Amino acid sequence: MDRQTEYVLRTMEERDVRFVRLWFTDVLGFLKSVAIAPAELEGAFSEGVGFDGSAIEGYARVYESDMVAHPDPSSFQMLPWRTQSNTARMFCDISLPDGSPSFADPRHVLKRALDKASDMGFTFYIHPEIEFFLFKPPVVPGIEPTPLDMGGYFDHTTLGDGTDFRRDAIQMLERMGISVEFSHHEGAPGQHEIDLRYADALTMADNIMTFRVVMKEVAVSQGIEASFMPKPFTNHAGSGMHTHMSLFEGDNNAFYDAADQYRLSKTGKQFVAGLLHHAAEITAVTNQWVNSYKRLVGGGEAPSFICWGRNNRSALVRIPMFKPDKASSARIELRSIDSAANPYLSYAVILAAGLSGIEHEMELPEEAADDAWSMTDRERRAMGIRNLPHNLDEAIREMENSELVAETLGEHVFDYFLRNKRAEFEEYRRHVTPHELTTLLPRL
Ligand code: GLU
Ligand code: MG
Ligand code: MG
Repeated sequence: MDRQTEYVLRTMEERDVRFVRLWFTDVLGFLKSVAIAPAELEGAFSEGVGFDGSAIEGYARVYESDMVAHPDPSSFQMLPWRTQSNTARMFCDISLPDGSPSFADPRHVLKRALDKASDMGFTFYIHPEIEFFLFKPPVVPGIEPTPLDMGGYFDHTTLGDGTDFRRDAIQMLERMGISVEFSHHEGAPGQHEIDLRYADALTMADNIMTFRVVMKEVAVSQGIEASFMPKPFTNHAGSGMHTHMSLFEGDNNAFYDAADQYRLSKTGKQFVAGLLHHAAEITAVTNQWVNSYKRLVGGGEAPSFICWGRNNRSALVRIPMFKPDKASSARIELRSIDSAANPYLSYAVILAAGLSGIEHEMELPEEAADDAWSMTDRERRAMGIRNLPHNLDEAIREMENSELVAETLGEHVFDYFLRNKRAEFEEYRRHVTPHELTTLLPRL
């Protein structure tokens, strides 16, 4: 038995833990959980816990439905909101009964991508800015929700409970070992942002899943609702999950070069070039819902065009200004990904795109210094600036032709994802919207 497993078993006794929840994620990024009794835990560590994969989105076809969840002892944490009976959780890796990793497990997809980075000598670090909304209850499907407050960007105390919420939510995250760097009110009413301290991509993907649960739990405990829907309001900005990232080689930030005018190394530039080159084909993964594309229409500080800039917030990739002497903080920021993405699959395709830029020594295109929104289509074309996909349909079509995404997700997840997303778009396409009824019914 390794030390981490021993630590878990000892803590189980010391903290009198009554339930252990085993967590994993389906292909769309929804959290799945099965609770086991403490007596089952040793067996769970040695053999795993079997479940019917055919009932989980994207996992298995009915004839090969048996799956096994193996808890990762390094992810053991108490759930602070379970006050009546002590409950802990662990993230799981999913395998087939013969022990081989499940091709459908998003955590495995990310691990495979990280292995490739590690073969090239890199560790992938992530620092996300997570935006989300707080609503007054009840939130009724089909009806525009009511924001909890009428605050705006960086407002200190607003007319609602947002500040209290953030304090409680951040304390809960810290108790679960997730450090928070910043938090503030965001631009839209009821919109908040919490930025997590950087961590390696696998830890961060787990942290994002935990973050979503914590926000929902704290909201419910305060009689309000939290939502990660990318664009709930037509007339207000949506919720992005800007992702800052860097590659380290041992202790050295591979993105840093003190001599460069942007302080960005050749490796960093090639990574950005790869991201831009593959941006359209990975967007279906980073922005996976029909609603995601309502956020990317231009305005609201969300990107619509495939370009990079330093202080240009309309750009897809931003190279933030960092202190020249602080090599460790050299990083780049991807601004398209939203708060409802599957973090495992997203980090996998983002990393693969960047690494492809390094492998193929791609040239960084010129910086888009101007606000890309204020240019005409012709000006943008002249600068070689393409659009991000306009809707899920365009994004799917880009992804269908992508060898990079097929290889990164693996055939099973790639096919399932495309099938599922095509169905989502078809259903949406047939739907007569309130917009049509409002604008056309009086006229036609
Ligand atoms: N809410 C904006 C978005 O959807 C971002 C605002 C900001 O710059 O933080 O991307
Ligand atoms: Mg923000
Ligand atoms: Mg940002």
